[in-house]
Amino acid sequence: MATVVGAGFAGVEAAWALAERGIPTQLWEMRPSQTTPAHTTGWFAELVCSNSLKSKSPTSPAGQLKAEMDALGSIVLATAREHEVPGGEALCVDRNAFGEALTKKVREHPNISVRSGAWTPARLQEDMANGPVILATGPLSTDEVSTWLAEISGRKHLYFYDAVSPTVDAATIDRSVAFAQSRYDKGEDDYLNCPFEKDSYLAFVEALVNAERVPIHAFESGGVRDGSAENSEEQFLEKIKYFAGCTPIEAIAEKGPRSLAFGNFKPVGLTDPRTGRRPYAALQLRPENKQKSLYSLVACQNRLKWGEQKRIFRMVPGLENAEFVRYGVIHRNTYLEAPQVLHPDLQLRAVPGVFVAGQLTGVEGYVESAAMGIFAGLAALGYGRKIPLAVPDQRCAYGALLAHLQDQTPREFAPMNINWGLFPDPEPPIKDKGARRASKLAHAQDALSLWLEQLESAGLR
Ligand SMILES: Cc1cc2nc3c(=O)[nH]c(=O)nc-3n(C[C@H](O)[C@H](O)[C@H](O)COP(=O)(O)OP(=O)(O)OC[C@H]3O[C@@H](n4cnc5c(N)ncnc54)[C@H](O)[C@@H]3O)c2cc1C
Repeated sequence: MATVVGAGFAGVEAAWALAERGIPTQLWEMRPSQTTPAHTTGWFAELVCSNSLKSKSPTSPAGQLKAEMDALGSIVLATAREHEVPGGEALCVDRNAFGEALTKKVREHPNISVRSGAWTPARLQEDMANGPVILATGPLSTDEVSTWLAEISGRKHLYFYDAVSPTVDAATIDRSVAFAQSRYDKGEDDYLNCPFEKDSYLAFVEALVNAERVPIHAFESGGVRDGSAENSEEQFLEKIKYFAGCTPIEAIAEKGPRSLAFGNFKPVGLTDPRTGRRPYAALQLRPENKQKSLYSLVACQNRLKWGEQKRIFRMVPGLENAEFVRYGVIHRNTYLEAPQVLHPDLQLRAVPGVFVAGQLTGVEGYVESAAMGIFAGLAALGYGRKIPLAVPDQRCAYGALLAHLQDQTPREFAPMNINWGLFPDPEPPIKDKGARRASKLAHAQDALSLWLEQLESAGLR
């Protein structure tokens, strides 16, 4: 028998993957008797915000991920297609019809028994005696689960807030402007620097101060979980300073026009090769992965609306045509520092037999979380049968996401959605964007076929 905790996107997929392969599975869900600050129904896999499950286009990263999930029997995608509503290229669903149908299918599966109520780690020994346990309690996990995860993985490896800077596709940075140099030429030239002149800097700061922001939810500024406190910006800033150790860039800019030039964008130790001078200010870019195909904007955590981020960060010299693979966010989230605490099969290094799935692993979004649910289900199946699960090559979408969760590059580990930058660049490099992506896609399809064969021959598909 297996135990899955949380019937969100990851939990239903994990339970379904196990049940379809003949494993009796108990699936714990606490809603509706106990809820989270964002959920409002008792449906499994509730879409707490948008009703979009991203692109359907087979030539997009999200489309490739969907093809891979379909090959493994995704119940979320199959149900979403049955309840699709018009959404252009995106797979959008009628949220109530989707939730109701999915809940019914899962409840009626002969190998799944649904347990209602909040699971607590006090049950762990008993459940582990019966087989593997998968934790899929999501970004708003109960305090009991979060506290236990912090205890066994080390407090510094569990995040309570997601405070990340925007990330751009390296191929879209203008290298004739952004230059590689570390301050005072100390260390390797891993950083790229986007140099501001006084005018461009002041225009950027003014745009930041006046930009439209995402509203703060009460549960983000008040008590971490109870949502009872007032929706105040001051409380929110205090919380994120405490939990995430940062202040949003727009709040720093509000302190005065030169506050960024003296702080996050300090140009000391830098020389712009185009002018031979120190720039007025400099925004630094740091590689996000080993192959340097993604760069994050250092210390640019913010709460601006996405359209505003695109407009304003494209005012930065060198980023005029940058493509953002992820925008900055600061919000409540719970996730582990996967590269330090998870094995490649999503098993907790500290507690063999306990797997983690969904957003807790450090992926982001409904589809990515569901994808990690299927993977955790297969990994738990392999664990029970003593067959190690083959981890897919980084060139397919599953491999790309899992490589992000194992990448040891020193960085602020941040949740990631599926995007082109996670797929390795072709060798030799291809300059044309369309041809580069077509090549990545072809490699992804080959890598997927290989992985499916490995799963098949191990009896895990
Ligand atoms: C406010 C907000 C807005 C979002 N907007 C979007 C968006 O627009 N698009 C998008 O793609 N993603 C969005 N996300 C992210 C998305 O919700 C997650 O990526 C996805 O739901 C994660 O799936 P999951 O299975 O890991 O967690 P969830 O889907 O949250 O599922 C976790 C489940 O576990 C249950 N649970 C928790 N603790 C326990 C316990 N101790 N015992 C039993 N059950 C428990 C919960 O009730 C829940 O049903 C948003 C998240 C939040 C918080």
